[in-house]
Amino acid sequence: MAKYIFITGGVVSSLGKGVAAAGCGALLQSRGYTVHARKFDPYLNIDPGTMSPFQHGEVYVTNDGYETDLDLGYYERFLGAKLTRNDSVSGGRIYWDVLNAERRGDYLGGTVQMIPHVSNRIKEYIGAPIDTDFVVCEIGGTVGDIEGKIFLESIRQFANQVGRRNVMFVHLTLAPYLEKSGELKTKPTQMSVRQLLENGIQADMLIVRTPRMLTADERGKIGMFCNLPAKNVISGIDVDNIYKIPLAYEAQHVFDIIAEHFGLPNASGNMERFQKIENYLGADIPTVNIGVVGKYFDVPDAYKSLNEALFHAGIQNNVHVKIHKINAEDFTPDACNGMHGILVPGGFGTRGVEGKIAAARFARENNVPYMGICLGMQVAVIEFARNVLGIENANSTEFDKNCTPIVDIMPDHDAADMGGTLRLGAYPCEIKPGTRAEQIWGTNKISERHRHRYEVDVKWADKFAQAGMVVSGISPDGRLPEIVEIPSHPFFVAGQFHPEFQSSPYSGHPMFNAFIAAAAKH
Ligand code: GLN
Repeated sequence: MAKYIFITGGVVSSLGKGVAAAGCGALLQSRGYTVHARKFDPYLNIDPGTMSPFQHGEVYVTNDGYETDLDLGYYERFLGAKLTRNDSVSGGRIYWDVLNAERRGDYLGGTVQMIPHVSNRIKEYIGAPIDTDFVVCEIGGTVGDIEGKIFLESIRQFANQVGRRNVMFVHLTLAPYLEKSGELKTKPTQMSVRQLLENGIQADMLIVRTPRMLTADERGKIGMFCNLPAKNVISGIDVDNIYKIPLAYEAQHVFDIIAEHFGLPNASGNMERFQKIENYLGADIPTVNIGVVGKYFDVPDAYKSLNEALFHAGIQNNVHVKIHKINAEDFTPDACNGMHGILVPGGFGTRGVEGKIAAARFARENNVPYMGICLGMQVAVIEFARNVLGIENANSTEFDKNCTPIVDIMPDHDAADMGGTLRLGAYPCEIKPGTRAEQIWGTNKISERHRHRYEVDVKWADKFAQAGMVVSGISPDGRLPEIVEIPSHPFFVAGQFHPEFQSSPYSGHPMFNAFIAAAAKH
């Protein structure tokens, strides 16, 4: 059975439980252990796909097509874990399951209660068999939240069932610094740990978010009040880049604390992959300017995975990547001055589309490296149809019902079977031999994740090819163009999928790596 590290948080929200959990997981991986991640969100939405990106930032998509919040992305990137719909579970989904079971009569007329019916359902998701040594399991929200109570009760029961040495409780808190008295205050941490204890959970390790390292005295005091050894009180100081966190934990012997708790042998870790990132961050190397032509810039984290993927590709190419936000709604080609590459990311709705089309045109005509993602591919083909093939009213039916549809809802693809809903999750794509896409991915069969409703109509492929834009990747049934490129251009490549969801800080993603390489050259 896998061993579990549960991460809870207290005092305030947004302390970075996900990153802390991933950081602990990374230390285990650096000793050769395998790690999976799960996240439980006590709120009542049945899944995060229905939540406004204006409140929650980007919608992240797993291989199996589940729309999750962006925290899941941290786990996949940091740990390389491949998560599924059963690794991101909300309170709403738990109650939905239980109430549906009740309607089906599964409880045989018994009284359905929070304990055991709801808590058992939570434990089923927590304990679902998984073939890794460890599972880091984050409980969303803050200790004391009413919705969260049943989750704390469930992890308490779970620990009791599988044995306290198979489960570790890590709690994240905040120690605010009071300017006036020049003191770091530990009381909120004490209160938070006490509140956890009221739920029957004794924290085994504390990660205290503070502006500076805790002193030995402060750790001793926290340890005494919170009922754990002072050495298990870790300073979670702010870092300017999240990939520095594993190194910060390593320096504070976090692995040793985890090892002692679970009875693991002592081992020194191979932290090379994080050291490499830290060195890169401080390196005096050229900067590549990338113009991202989008429209969700006022939403924090709306392009989280995209920004990450560009950062990762910078590491691979040994250049810093500076992202310039170019608002599509008032786009003028001037905005592209000084850009080494132009990227049009995904998007929905008419607002800003003409600006994105103009950006694709600028990149094509001026030989500036262009990368298109999802809508970024759709605007590239629309632009090409209008300005190269001369089809003046070329468009997507998403934006103009009376256009010559280059991009449309395909009547007979999977998504249409689902009532015209989104095509979500990983789909295979076949890459044509002799294309730039083949050079980029180094293989002819790839799998990338999707989240869109419309498709480029394949019937245009020959006309496009004659004029210089080729479909270089296509669905195995030959019906859905997945990659287009312009062979005569230094770098003009666009995909119907979202490669950013599979980018890794340790190796980047082939498409982003190639784009940044081309931009650096430009
Ligand atoms: N709006 C487009 C579609 O639904 C593109 C979506 C996207 O870029 N993710 O097909």
